[in-house]
Amino acid sequence: MIPAAFEYYRPKDMAGVLSILEEHGDDARVMAGGHSLIPMMKLRMADVPHLIDLQDVGGMSDIEIGGDSIRIGAMVTQHAIIDHDALADAAPILREAALQIADPQVRYMGTVGGNVANGDPGNDMPGLMQCLDARFTVEGPDGEREIAAREFYEAAYMTAREDEEVLTAVTIPTPHGGYAYEKQKRKIGDYATAAAAVQIVKEGGTCASASIAMTNLSDTPVFSEAAGAALVGTGVDANAIKTAVAAMLGDIDPTEDNRGPVAFKKHVAGIILTRAIERAWSRA
Ligand SMILES: Cc1cc2nc3c(=O)[nH]c(=O)nc-3n(C[C@H](O)[C@H](O)[C@H](O)COP(=O)(O)OP(=O)(O)OC[C@H]3O[C@@H](n4cnc5c(N)ncnc54)[C@H](O)[C@@H]3O)c2cc1C
Repeated sequence: MIPAAFEYYRPKDMAGVLSILEEHGDDARVMAGGHSLIPMMKLRMADVPHLIDLQDVGGMSDIEIGGDSIRIGAMVTQHAIIDHDALADAAPILREAALQIADPQVRYMGTVGGNVANGDPGNDMPGLMQCLDARFTVEGPDGEREIAAREFYEAAYMTAREDEEVLTAVTIPTPHGGYAYEKQKRKIGDYATAAAAVQIVKEGGTCASASIAMTNLSDTPVFSEAAGAALVGTGVDANAIKTAVAAMLGDIDPTEDNRGPVAFKKHVAGIILTRAIERAWSRA
């Protein structure tokens, strides 16, 4: 399929990007890896008369690992996340999740910034970033601001980022404890029927803190505070996991589609979260 005609821009710096966004407003869109946007344009689900390629804009491809936090530039690819050993040591859930996104070909092009800015409930990194309590840095005509991942997603493809703002980086507090990213999909390369991101801190045999987020089970990623709270203070036994799963099921709102009816999706969500909690706990 062929997209509608568009003007292509390849500015060398952020000032150039922002001035095109300001000039064309709603009619302009940035492109990172293009692996969500170009298919949408080809399917005529996105009309983008002015397409701004971010590939030549510097300063967004670094991974910085500090003592307390990790900063990942928006143009870092999913492949680079997988390939970065120090990052995998500091935050292993990132590699585990990235390996479950699409296929190697997509991961060589798809970026962290594109994945989280897109607002597609099927993308894996939004829920992951909510689990990790990430903050997104966006830059616009009025300068920079930060938005918490847990407050970023408003509805499918609707986020707290303004049209004239560009997401430049994702920052996460260095995670501690056990982790798991568990995903059920119909086939290799598919989006999730259900996926769960879990981080658990264990102290003296009990759960000191737990963070849980779910993917593709609502029109936004779902950070389930209640599911995490259900594990805290317990030994993460079968009863505690059952309570956490029940709390998560109260927070999600799946709809029927070609991945199955609502009851099936809830069933899968429960199994996936149970597995993720068990694996995270075994690693804690
Ligand atoms: C066959 C296939 C299978 C896939 N399977 C999965 C999967 O299982 N899980 C998954 O998570 N993803 C999947 N994807 C999507 C893939 O990971 C995308 O590459 C990714 O979601 C978007 O990243 P991108 O860099 O390609 O963004 P683009 O396609 O360039 O952009 C996506 C959207 O984000 C906006 N955007 C991009 N960068 C920025 C920025 N810095 N600031 C502001 N807005 C920005 C664009 O304007 C656009 O609206 C799949 C894609 C394909 C083609």
